[in-house]
Amino acid sequence: MFKKFLKNTSLASRVSFSSIASNSYSGPKAFKVLCVGAGSGGISAASFFADKLQDKQVGIIEPSQMHYQQPMWTLVGGGMKSFNETRARMADVIPKKATWIQNSVASIEPQNNFVVLSDGSVIKYEHLILAPGIQLDFQAIEGLSESLGKDGVCTVYSDKYVEKTWEFIKNFKKGGKAIFTMPSTPIKCPGAPQKIAYLAENWFRDLKTRETSTLSYYTGIGKIFGIDKYADSMWEVSKSRNIDVNLLHDLVSVDPISKVATFKILGSGPDAGKHVKKEYDFLHVTPKMKPVDFLKNSSVVNAAGFVDVNNGTLQHNKYDNVYAIGDCNSAPTSKTAAAACVQAYVVKNNLFNKITNNTNFSPLSYNGYTSCPLITGKDSVVLAEFSGYSGKPIETFFYNQARESKFSYWMTADVLPQVYWNMLTAGKWNGPLKIRKFLNPLNIN
Ligand SMILES: Cc1cc2nc3c(=O)[nH]c(=O)nc-3n(C[C@H](O)[C@H](O)[C@H](O)COP(=O)(O)OP(=O)(O)OC[C@H]3O[C@@H](n4cnc5c(N)ncnc54)[C@H](O)[C@@H]3O)c2cc1C
Repeated sequence: MFKKFLKNTSLASRVSFSSIASNSYSGPKAFKVLCVGAGSGGISAASFFADKLQDKQVGIIEPSQMHYQQPMWTLVGGGMKSFNETRARMADVIPKKATWIQNSVASIEPQNNFVVLSDGSVIKYEHLILAPGIQLDFQAIEGLSESLGKDGVCTVYSDKYVEKTWEFIKNFKKGGKAIFTMPSTPIKCPGAPQKIAYLAENWFRDLKTRETSTLSYYTGIGKIFGIDKYADSMWEVSKSRNIDVNLLHDLVSVDPISKVATFKILGSGPDAGKHVKKEYDFLHVTPKMKPVDFLKNSSVVNAAGFVDVNNGTLQHNKYDNVYAIGDCNSAPTSKTAAAACVQAYVVKNNLFNKITNNTNFSPLSYNGYTSCPLITGKDSVVLAEFSGYSGKPIETFFYNQARESKFSYWMTADVLPQVYWNMLTAGKWNGPLKIRKFLNPLNIN
């Protein structure tokens, strides 16, 4: 019944695909709050401020016609959801009280409180919230751009190739060598590169090609997962699925003619720096990622190219009317939508009180919370929830979330997508803090 209610109220299912937003921008003016990017973090903050402030005080700069619920893409690539369920027209998620400027930011002038768009126009602000995400860097792996979408090479990280991933998995009817990669750069959702391996493995068993196939996971980092409690589980899961895990192997090139993937061995071991070549029949690549272009040469980023914010307040370390949430910022935690919406909560609370000159409030401080539902099969999930700052689990439920669980799968595949469309995009989902206080008050992890 709950499931039916959630389905019926889903924003994605209500999308008409016929109308485009009309709240267009005309002329220079300073927005009270200007959001750059209307992805998971940006839309959460923008919707809140549009609701709280007067009409047209909130501006949103966002070039895309579509809003994507990217966390569901692993399930799309793994044949458990349709791509349509993961997207909505941007016009339908952008709050009507805000002004949508359908353009890209090309540069930023934080000293003068304005940004410049790709057409040269200038947009001024009183308070700026940066949320342009992180960009996929296909060019960083030689041969990848030419290979994607053909002969078994795919990725769930891109709207263009996520459906191809499922096509290649379901047509893996002869079996063969399947390879899954994770790069050495920071990425969004560091769990997804292995989640898709477990889903594929499950399907290969159903297709009866598991016996004639080998599955290998190559990661550019030195751990199977950053947090020990969940890493221990993932070692067990990979072992039980007979997936060969190779740490510190960074994909550097793909040769689509000979169907060979080349990895560079990282670290300080005896083989460090060497290249190893592996043949593949199916290759799921997680591309390297990098900060978006307009941030690269700006004065708001740190040496790594991420917006330099205070870990607690997400406020810029130099420009105090600039905030950054989500994948674009320097907060040392896993980059996920779960993290982005809790970060948005902190900014919403602190900035709104600042704007309304309310000195009688308790400022919130972000604790590094992030979550990664590690899908381990068609009905099981290890629901990792932790602080990237302390490295400690922060679990919402009272059972051991490091164990594979059907309930965790249901939360991931059925509940969270609806929370996303119905609450997060409306600025009303601030993470599971309140639920956790009720369900797991003693913080048993
Ligand atoms: C395959 C996959 C699986 C994932 N699984 C999970 C998961 O299970 N759980 C989870 O919590 N997270 C998951 N994530 C990660 C999650 O989707 C991101 O961390 C989250 O979307 C980050 O939000 P954001 O607002 O920072 O960036 P995004 O949601 O990427 O939004 C950025 C927005 O900025 C816009 N933009 C870009 N450049 C500009 C510019 N120059 N000017 C203006 N606007 C611009 C873009 O068009 C985009 O709309 C997954 C992601 C992928 C791809």
